[in-house]
Amino acid sequence: MTPEIYLDGNATSPVMPAAIAAAVRAMEDCYGNPSSSHTTGLQARALLDGARQRALRLLGVEQGSLMFNSGATEGIQTAVLSALCALRERRDAGQAIGSLLVYGATEHKAVPEALAHWNRLLGLNLALSKLPVDSDGRHDLPALRAVLPQTAMLCTMAANNETGVLSDIAGIEGLLEETGCGAYWMVDCVQALGKFRLRLARSRIDYAPFSGHKLYAPKGIGMLYVRQGAPFTPLIVGGGQESAQRSGTENMAGVAALDAVLAALEQGGVFRPHDVLCTFRERLAASLRRALPGVVFNAPFEHALPTTLNFSVPGLSSKELMDVFDAAGVRVSAGSACSAAKAAPSYVLQAMGVPDWRAASAIRMSFGPLADEACITRACERIERCGAALRASGLIAQGGSLPAQDGVLQLGSGGACSWLVHDAASRSCVVIDPQPEFSERILAHVRGLGYRAAAVLGTAPGAGLATLSRALTLAPGADAFGWRAGRADADAAGNGEQLALGGQLLRRVLIDGQAVYLLGHAVNGALPASAARHAFIGALAPQRLAGLVGADTLLCAASDAQQPFCSSLQAQAPADGLPPADLHLDPAALQDLLRRHPDAMLVDVRESHEHLVGEPLALSGGQVVSVPLGQLAGQIPAWMAAPVPLVFFCRSGNRSTRAAQCLRRLGYAQAYDLAGGMALGMVPTAALPLAA
Ligand code: PLP
Repeated sequence: MTPEIYLDGNATSPVMPAAIAAAVRAMEDCYGNPSSSHTTGLQARALLDGARQRALRLLGVEQGSLMFNSGATEGIQTAVLSALCALRERRDAGQAIGSLLVYGATEHKAVPEALAHWNRLLGLNLALSKLPVDSDGRHDLPALRAVLPQTAMLCTMAANNETGVLSDIAGIEGLLEETGCGAYWMVDCVQALGKFRLRLARSRIDYAPFSGHKLYAPKGIGMLYVRQGAPFTPLIVGGGQESAQRSGTENMAGVAALDAVLAALEQGGVFRPHDVLCTFRERLAASLRRALPGVVFNAPFEHALPTTLNFSVPGLSSKELMDVFDAAGVRVSAGSACSAAKAAPSYVLQAMGVPDWRAASAIRMSFGPLADEACITRACERIERCGAALRASGLIAQGGSLPAQDGVLQLGSGGACSWLVHDAASRSCVVIDPQPEFSERILAHVRGLGYRAAAVLGTAPGAGLATLSRALTLAPGADAFGWRAGRADADAAGNGEQLALGGQLLRRVLIDGQAVYLLGHAVNGALPASAARHAFIGALAPQRLAGLVGADTLLCAASDAQQPFCSSLQAQAPADGLPPADLHLDPAALQDLLRRHPDAMLVDVRESHEHLVGEPLALSGGQVVSVPLGQLAGQIPAWMAAPVPLVFFCRSGNRSTRAAQCLRRLGYAQAYDLAGGMALGMVPTAALPLAA
């Protein structure tokens, strides 16, 4: 397996060895309950007190309290609950408290959710007000000044988790002082810890939540600072631990681990200094610029943590970028919430007013202050390898430089799809049912191949056909379906209903006002039903094709939401809608299958750039093939003609399951998928009889 380069530190970090050792020591040697009065308990108490003292020193807290808890989401709840309970009491006592709960537009979701939740539960019914940010992602201070007189609570963050943008905390504090605003103020310090010096006692901040797992401690340990005199209501009550501020027996392994991280911070020399982190960012940015032409950084470096890069690349979705980075062993995250097919734009980038395409296709690359030269060098190499793979697969346009392609290609799956038929010998292709969302991609693809577009066809009349035809420099004169009557390659009867594409024929049949295109190899200059390998059927119900196509002709629809990729007249729907029980192979079953069937083929259904960029060793061998899902329908007839067991695999098992299900539906009994994908199910090379 490709060794991992972890560049998703803002999501969570690995646990540093000193923290692991401290947690193990706490569990093995210091396992007492700090509330017990015997010696074992006293030892645990000393560990707990020592950790708290260190945290207080590091955060510059001279007075005020600091409690250990489960993490920042809990700290945020406690802070909001405390402030809102106090506000309710003050309002009940007849005091003016303001009417607004103000939070930065780029806050972590935990903040507005907690505000809305406790506001509702406590019956406060104050108005939630989103404070805008400017194009650099920093709070709009004039807008803040305007709302401060009505503000009851203010929530801002020290550094943003998606962009790394640093807030102007001093500027906000200045405004609070200048306006004499008595609002309670929470500053989410999660991404700031360990990245710059915090001096909480010198500030007017009332609450500051922290999280261990963002800085090399394990998940499940965090801290909340509460300023002396700030109101407090416990979120969890019970045995009175943490001075009754947070009941429940303390997570001592977590405390010990966090203490080890804080000790490293306090001693110095372990974490890289700011200027070194800035040079790391510069090197990564330079590699990104070389690898991904047109890359745009979504936050200004001068106002951001040096450990976070947020960027978008024209023409590439965050899913495509995530997939290629992941295949190269580089773990990054989509700067926006990504579902299988579509990415929801990042609300953080939207709040900054970045164009929609950038907000929907952003990638966040983040590392921690333990990063070293060697790791950054490896990351830069991999980034450049990703760029090369994207160029080779045509996702980064390079006119006329794509390797020749033959056969059928599907663009889009799980919804609307477009189809391309290529002929390498004549260097020509036909586009069928071009969906508007794929127009750019189709253009780039055809230009990248340097092929002549012979036709742009619709199974239904469509305005988009003419536009794409023009863009592909096709001569005018086609009918509403994009079909040209009287063309030179009309069939023997001269009815213009077939189009020759190298050795293949594309025949048009009109049914119920819709066009169906049959594709296959010519038999005596014509295309009989039995010779049609593919039929592009648009939205036509398959039953309407009875007699027109063979039982196993692959039916390629304009949407594959119901039947992924393709179907056929003889295709079986699984009886109960569930995949057959033996579809998924675990590593042991895979090995067994490979022993029994040395001719089995392992089919990598990831995109070709993912296949190219990955470590070839894990599944190397003559029988590993790359067939991205878009090429599945094109490849199936060849598999059907000479069936061998096929084991589909991808990163997670998601794409490969759909491929195996499609083959099973089409009656291909020996189609399987590797359960859990490469992430979970891949067996070491040495264990595979197939391996070279
Ligand atoms: N606040 C910020 C800025 C964060 O990045 C996160 C984690 O993603 C949280 C709060 C929530 O932290 P935790 O995972 O400790 O609950």
